[in-house]
This record gives sequence, structure tokens and C-alpha cells, in this order.
Amino acid sequence: MDYSISLQKHMRMLCKTIGARPAGSAKNKAAVDYVAGVLRQCGLEVRLQEFDCMDWKNFGAVLRVDGCDVPVTASEYSLPCEIEAELCCVDSVEALQNAELTGKIAVMHGDLCKEPLMPKNFQFYNPGEHKQIIALLEEKNPAAIITAAPTKDHIIADGDFNIPCAVVSAEQLDVFKQSASRRAKLTINSERIPSKAHNVIAAYGKQNEKVCFSAHIDTKPTTPGALDNASGVSALLTFAESLSGKEFPFQIEIVLFNGEDYYSTPGEIAFMSSLSTEYRLAVNVDGIGLKNSATSISFYSCAPEIENRIMKRVEQTTGIERIDPWPMGDHMLFASCGIPTVAITASNIFSLMGSVLHSPDDNMEKIDIDILSSTTRFLEICTDGWESDKDIFTKS
Ligand SMILES: [Zn+2]
Repeated sequence: MDYSISLQKHMRMLCKTIGARPAGSAKNKAAVDYVAGVLRQCGLEVRLQEFDCMDWKNFGAVLRVDGCDVPVTASEYSLPCEIEAELCCVDSVEALQNAELTGKIAVMHGDLCKEPLMPKNFQFYNPGEHKQIIALLEEKNPAAIITAAPTKDHIIADGDFNIPCAVVSAEQLDVFKQSASRRAKLTINSERIPSKAHNVIAAYGKQNEKVCFSAHIDTKPTTPGALDNASGVSALLTFAESLSGKEFPFQIEIVLFNGEDYYSTPGEIAFMSSLSTEYRLAVNVDGIGLKNSATSISFYSCAPEIENRIMKRVEQTTGIERIDPWPMGDHMLFASCGIPTVAITASNIFSLMGSVLHSPDDNMEKIDIDILSSTTRFLEICTDGWESDKDIFTKS
């Protein structure tokens, strides 16, 4: 079966017609309504799981040092500000500990910007060093923070952190270090508006035992999110279109998570709070269809029999390879509960973090529809012959 027409239609709708779809925004709701409509048309029973979040509005930022404009953007979820203050550069935890920052603009660089700091209330992974830096910043209480990282990452992107934050490129560091006045004027025009968003949960079949296929529908605020993760959503919608008339020993549940790219993953937390023990397998799809890349599969909490069964399907499909488990993403929700879990992504996606991913460059030009088609076909192949080897999944 040729999936490319359907995949292209869904990709175009999500990336072009809708575009950036951060949780809590009107565009996000448009994406939720679109996928819910497609899944209903496929005959699935669809429900929307509502949760609270914020709609973060960004109207731009302005930074002036010694009378010159410096290119700057607001950190995602930042509070607004309009201040003029003394600059203070800090590049390590030690420098931060010794700095006097109250009322100043703290310029973070070097070691402090080597990776994004986990949001304060991010539950699944939060290293001690990140917590220490955030706690020090709150204790020192600068009027605002500017991060100058070597990547495009927003080092602080946290709606629960209440010091205004802005982002400049590391190339701008000398502007601060060589400033004659050692002062800057920073304006961030942003707004945090209380909002709601929804996970989409669709069921095919009425069995109690379920196999879940999931992908996240939300994006970061400034990206069309083609790889991350319109491709995964489009694959699941196209997979849903292939189900009609088929019978399976398990209920097939299709979950579009809403919040993987939101600072506190509220959709994932809402879903977890109602997670049952009826899952026999979970398959999460995120970042597939990348041009010039194989597709990868990795296993979590799977008995060897389950791995072997799925690896037999892998061998029937060209362009899919097994990789070691990687610990970030929605597949960990299931894996951490001991549910046999499979994560599917593009093998080369890891090299795009901090550059293409989460930026406007994550657009449809990065997608190879043939690779996306064969990955979608793989999802279908995974469900072939289930009736005869049902025991493999129900044994444990
Ligand atoms: Zn993603």
C-alpha cells in the first residue's frame, strides 16, 4: 500500500497549515482537533484528556549595550521585563556562588551553558548540578538573566522560574565583556496566559489488554516541528487509516501526547495519573523520516521473546536498525512502569539536537517521504500475525 499521499497530507496540515503548535496555544488546539477528526473518521473511539497549562505569548525582545542593539530572543516561557542594570558575567558554578547579582543582569556562559537546565518541576530527570544552578540563581536574585550558549538551546526554559531570561548567541559574549559602561537595557515582551490543552486517546477494539502506539503532537514555540514530531503523528494517523476491518487480539490504543516539548510535560503527567496495568506493549514514535538516515528501534523492559518477535519484523523491513536504549522521551513513561516498550526514531536524529531540532529549520525539507512510508509500514507489519503469537505478550 502506498502511504505517501496520506503522509504528505498530514505533514502539510501539521507543519504548514498549522505550524508551531506549543501546548496551550490556539494552534495546538487546531492540531488536536485535526488528529481527533482523522482518528474518528477511521472508526476509532476518541477522547480528549484535558489538563492545565499556559499559553506563552512572545512579542519579541530588545537588548541594548553601550547604545548598540544586540540580537536577542526571549527564553521560552520567560516573564516579561523592562530594565536597565549593571552586567555581571558568570561562567561556572563557583563564579555564580561568589557573584553579587541582586538587581543586576546576569550573563551566563561557559560551563553554565553547556546544556539546557532541566525545569524546576520536571519529574523524570533532574541532575543535582542543574538544581544547584537554578537554586543559586533564585537566591542571588538578578533582575534578569541572559544566557550565551554555543548552541541554539534555551538554557533556561521554565514557566515555573520567575526571573526574566533572554538568549543571545555565544558570539556576542565580547559585547558584554568589553562594554565600557558595563550596563545593558533589556526589554522582554512576553505574557503567560493560563490555558488548557489535551492529549488525544483513541481506541480500536474493545479488549481490556492494550497495545499503545504513541507520538507527541506539541512542538517548541518557534518550530514547524516536522521531525519533532509531525512525522510521528502523521505515521500514526496513516497507520490508523490501515486498521479498518482488521481484527487483533488486543485493543490498539493510539495516544497523541501533548507536552513532550513543554517545560513541565503536563500531558504526560495527566496520562500517567490514569495509567493502567493493561498494556502489553507500548510503541513510541518520535523523530522519524529523516533524510539520509536509517530508522532505529530500541527496546525497554522487553522479555527476550518480545524482542525476538519484533526483530523478525525488523529483518523484513529495509532501513531499520537496532540501537542501544536512550533515556529521554515519552517511551520512558511506559518503560519506567515496567511495560514492554519500543522506541522508534531516526538513527541520525541525535546529531540534530541543539541545531535543527526545536528551531525553524526542523521543516518538511528534512523529511524523506519514502523513509517515512516504510517506517509507517513497519508499524503495520508489527501487528501482523498477532493472533498466533499473542502468548508472547501475555506471559509476563
Ligand atoms: Zn519529540
